[in-house]
Amino acid sequence: MTELRPIEAVLHAPEPHWVGDGFRVAGYFAAYEGLVERLSPFLLLDYHAPHVYPPTENLRRGVGPHPHRGFETVTLAFEGSVAHHDSAGNGGVIGPGDVQWMTAGAGILHREYHEAEFARRGGRMHMLQLWVNLPKASKLTAPRYQALTAAQMGRVRLPDDQGEVRVIAGEFQGARGPARTFTPIRMLDASVRAGGKVAFDVPARENALVLVVEGELTLGDTPARTSDLAVFENRGERIELAARTDVRALLLAGEPIDEPVVQYGPFVMNTEGEIRRAIADFQAGRFGRLDD
Ligand code: MN
Repeated sequence: MTELRPIEAVLHAPEPHWVGDGFRVAGYFAAYEGLVERLSPFLLLDYHAPHVYPPTENLRRGVGPHPHRGFETVTLAFEGSVAHHDSAGNGGVIGPGDVQWMTAGAGILHREYHEAEFARRGGRMHMLQLWVNLPKASKLTAPRYQALTAAQMGRVRLPDDQGEVRVIAGEFQGARGPARTFTPIRMLDASVRAGGKVAFDVPARENALVLVVEGELTLGDTPARTSDLAVFENRGERIELAARTDVRALLLAGEPIDEPVVQYGPFVMNTEGEIRRAIADFQAGRFGRLDD
């Protein structure tokens, strides 16, 4: 019998703050000190709990052009619709069930707005954005954009109609997620009916967390509910989730990148010098161009 991974902490959602005028997010990494060191390769988790936006003619609701370098942004939509454009010429819409896995690498500018039709109509937005660090060797890789649609995700039906696990990155019970990653990462989106259970094999070396998107559950003996973020110790090799109500939960795990992290706003590098270089390159227009 494999050993359960003990829970180190259950973090409650911090008070939400606004990112631009379009995203009302709870920023766990900003609110709880030490998570960047503790949860490598993850650098940020901004969770946008369900929030209803009124109809608007403002088609710039969100965040205007801004740079990133040295890591990846991963945007996952549960409800609502986000439009994205970047200076590499990529653009797309992230709708319910879709994931956008953007590698900023050497540097891009992008903008993130409510998709126009969604903005006009108004409605519920429910999404999250995760920042994933890149190893030193890949920090200046060419920018890359993976538009992962709901239809592309790996899917595992749980026995006895207990629910389903969508595999976005990594592997679960033989199903593989479509995301290409630079270091081993697992991103699983589990929907489990009340009374159902699911177990994940996650080796101790992988930093692991579970975000409860909806419902009440137990992880081993520990209860957690909507918007809680459970952080696991690095021992044991199995995570068991039991649903007390209908539940949706996101499991994130990854092998830590054992390198220094120096962050300055939208730049995440290994040294202060590389940060100064990022700022200089941005100011010199080397991240390309992007209109509002
Ligand atoms: Mn951004």
